[in-house]
Amino acid sequence: ATPTALMVGTGRSARMGILIKNGEVLEAVNDVKTVIFDKTGTITVGKPQVTDIVGDNEKVLAIAASLEQSSEHPLAAAIIKKAKDAGISLTPSHDFKAIEGKGIQAVVEGETSFVGNDKLLNDVSVSASLRSTMITLQHEAKTVVFVGQGDEIIGLIAIQDTPKPTSKDAISALKSQGLKTVMLTGDNHAVAQAVADQVGIDQVVADVLPADKAEQVKKFQESGKVAFVGDGINDAPALSTADVGIAMGSGTDIAIESGGIVLVKNDLRDVYKALELSKKTFNRIK
Ligand code: ADP
Ligand code: MG
Repeated sequence: ATPTALMVGTGRSARMGILIKNGEVLEAVNDVKTVIFDKTGTITVGKPQVTDIVGDNEKVLAIAASLEQSSEHPLAAAIIKKAKDAGISLTPSHDFKAIEGKGIQAVVEGETSFVGNDKLLNDVSVSASLRSTMITLQHEAKTVVFVGQGDEIIGLIAIQDTPKPTSKDAISALKSQGLKTVMLTGDNHAVAQAVADQVGIDQVVADVLPADKAEQVKKFQESGKVAFVGDGINDAPALSTADVGIAMGSGTDIAIESGGIVLVKNDLRDVYKALELSKKTFNRIK
């Protein structure tokens, strides 16, 4: 390998906002068969908005937002913003607990309350009509969380995060090169599938706990090299496990550290460009 070619190649890509951090990445790109994407913040904008509230809106929002004050999840920011915009004042909460992949709980006004998806509910029963509302909203690409107090559900909140305007083009460029595209997410399958359909993703793997993302990458590695594109704290293990880890520049520090390639401009179309540039650079130096 000629180090000069490597320097020139990566220097050119750096000017395009594509940082290639090591030579191992260059070696792997020629054999990449699958590109796996995180959903929130990678394919979507990552700024979810509340779209629907079912139940006594004011009460549902007040309880949910009071709980979400202690959470750093993007869904929490959406719920708190909606409550503030509606002029609802938040109540202090204590004994906060996050339940991975499911939601959160805490004590508000002396009662254990919760916000989360249907997996969080356990013994709490959901009426048939509320469940069918949930399914309808999920098929509209909206994430649904139930809000409850004690063992009673008081309502639900639907939250939507729209795909980035460039996601569809980015996916179709990769598919035109014969690459398989996959979305990996902790969100519900119906929601993930609805988003995947909007951008043309081939396959969806949903309901994945953060700790299991790297395991999923390994499964796809059984049929060839894998590139993983992500931005979150949760994505770090998958980024390091993948043959080519691609981090969004807007991502968390840990994601950026774990990626072999960083997309400074946060443009998903740069995934295709990064793979093409890496191939060219590698073929010149080998
Ligand atoms: P992702 O980052 O892909 O959305 P997570 O594992 O962070 O995956 O979350 C999975 C699901 O768990 C969310 O879609 C939501 O239903 C639920 N959840 C997680 N955190 C919260 C929270 N703070 N408030 C409400 N629901 C939550
Ligand atoms: Mg993300």
